[in-house]
Amino acid sequence: MPASIESLLARVSKPARYSGGEWNSVTKRWDSTNVHIALAFPDAYDIGMSNMGIGILYDILNKIDDVVCERTYAPWEDMEAEMRREGVPLWSLETRSRIRDFDVFGFTLQYEMTYSNVLNMVDLAGIPVWAHERTDEHPIVICGGSGSFNPEPLSPFVDAFFLGEGEDAVVELTDLVRAWKAEKTPRRERLRHLLGRPGVYVPSFYEPRYDDSGHFAGLEPLVPEAPPRITRRIVEKLPPALVKPIVPFLQTVHDRAAVEIQRGCTQGCRFCQAGMIYRPTRERSPEEVVQAARELMQNTGYDELSLLSLSTTDHSQIVPMVNQLTSTFDNLKVGIPSTRVDSFSVDVANAVAKGKKHTLTLAPEAGSQRLRNAINKLVSEDDLLGAAENAFERGWTGIKMYFMVGLPTETREDVEGIVEMGKKVKAIGRKHVGGRARVRVSTSNLVPKPHTPFQWARQDTHDELQPKHFLLKDGCRSAGVEFSWNNPADSFIECVLSRGDRRVGAALYEAWRRGAKFDAWGEYFRAEHWREAFAVTGIDADWIAHREWDTQEVLPWDHIDCGVAKSYLRGQWRDVHSVKTVPDCHHGSCNVCGMQNFDALRGEDGVADCVVKLGKLVELKRGARNYEGEAVEMV
Ligand code: SF4
Repeated sequence: MPASIESLLARVSKPARYSGGEWNSVTKRWDSTNVHIALAFPDAYDIGMSNMGIGILYDILNKIDDVVCERTYAPWEDMEAEMRREGVPLWSLETRSRIRDFDVFGFTLQYEMTYSNVLNMVDLAGIPVWAHERTDEHPIVICGGSGSFNPEPLSPFVDAFFLGEGEDAVVELTDLVRAWKAEKTPRRERLRHLLGRPGVYVPSFYEPRYDDSGHFAGLEPLVPEAPPRITRRIVEKLPPALVKPIVPFLQTVHDRAAVEIQRGCTQGCRFCQAGMIYRPTRERSPEEVVQAARELMQNTGYDELSLLSLSTTDHSQIVPMVNQLTSTFDNLKVGIPSTRVDSFSVDVANAVAKGKKHTLTLAPEAGSQRLRNAINKLVSEDDLLGAAENAFERGWTGIKMYFMVGLPTETREDVEGIVEMGKKVKAIGRKHVGGRARVRVSTSNLVPKPHTPFQWARQDTHDELQPKHFLLKDGCRSAGVEFSWNNPADSFIECVLSRGDRRVGAALYEAWRRGAKFDAWGEYFRAEHWREAFAVTGIDADWIAHREWDTQEVLPWDHIDCGVAKSYLRGQWRDVHSVKTVPDCHHGSCNVCGMQNFDALRGEDGVADCVVKLGKLVELKRGARNYEGEAVEMV
């Protein structure tokens, strides 16, 4: 008789990760409901609880009377050891039900380095890890989130991928589950029903093909109803904000209330996947945000509110919004998580800052103007130094700057430029706040991502990155600037999981079998697990990561349509080398990226509706040409 969950809680660290019962969590009776869906974040509770996507879907599903939606997170190693020793399968937090008893087991994929946890959680639930080994008694395992935009490495383990925004798709899923249970629909038929749903990719109905040299050559639909391309779902207007989030018992990474003030970003940074797959920008009005803030404070007791978006100070009404919030709520601390690098953003950050002003975060990404233009990060040195001047003058004592290393066309001068930038900002800091000035340079290694202009870029090898890190470390140290960098070994694995085809799944399985899990945590990541896995499965990981891909070759994610046209991305990739920039359509004219063809965004007069919806009617010039010189289709 397996041990009780209570007895396990007494034996592990942070038992509140597994106890459930938090404020605003929803517990329903299973015997009075039809549809049972488990939502999972493939990392520790402390990380997963701050994921707004899961919170939104949990809220929508539990608002449906006959639907139970419960949560589960990756058990920490001490709990996993107890579970495996005692034979206790993975359970849900709300009713401590076995995950394998749910109808659907859904994961959000936010980061490739959590993929080994997906396999581990499926296994801990007592569900066969390989999708083809599952039977009618097992839940349908689905995935959503940005990782689904190259689903192939996980395809052998996942029954269906939900592409894009899930608000409508999950409700439609409950209709299917209700019908399946009423009609006792066999598993294969259930998967076939999912095949027909917009935005859903069911990999078992497609066979990958490889050319004579063993390179990926495309996906073969195995049944007539399998669509050749799956287009992501998008919600035209943002649904009502999440105002009753679960309040965790223990400290989480973002321990405050949050409201999504806009979705999407069109600044066009060429390395940024979110900037492509969440287009176009859709805003919430200041009135909606103030109302949401009021309800959030009542429902959570938080006195801190984060204004969430990919680029918060890009919201066209950020100033009136901040003024309304600070004038309506005396004791509310408002946080601006992501800011453009310019003085305006410092003014906004200053308008909300109450009490001590610690660290302002800026993301110039590259150390020279040439390289910033090449990656289309439209920030000038004056913007950055002006922002630093403004911040230190107004009492901030710290500035953290994010940069990337290993960018295409990067030179030694570009890397040295990062140190120079650090030095200049430190000098400005010293001028205003003396020895209290703290400047940090945090670098990440480029990981080329699908559906971006950099999807064809070559990733630097360990031996190429190391001297750059040493240069930065020495340069920053002598400038009194703090420096941090990413381990090239895990950036390499992230790249292979980002760009791999279905064969990489076998390597993922072998790495997991060898103990790979919590790969996103430095203290758990083991490069040897992956090296051995690539060796036994014959995966040429260097081929995937360390070469420039041909812009005409078939990509393992070509069957996924994120809305932005491949021709547009090709043009943008070409512009990297000609250092040609493209303006942000949110504040200017349309760049014809492909979203103009998105059904969900069509207005009555046939122009790119996402432009109209932004309240700026920018006539899409008839006869306009896209980057390939092809006439833009005005359907
Ligand atoms: S279609 Fe035009 S307006 Fe819409 S996201 Fe693309 S570039 Fe921007």
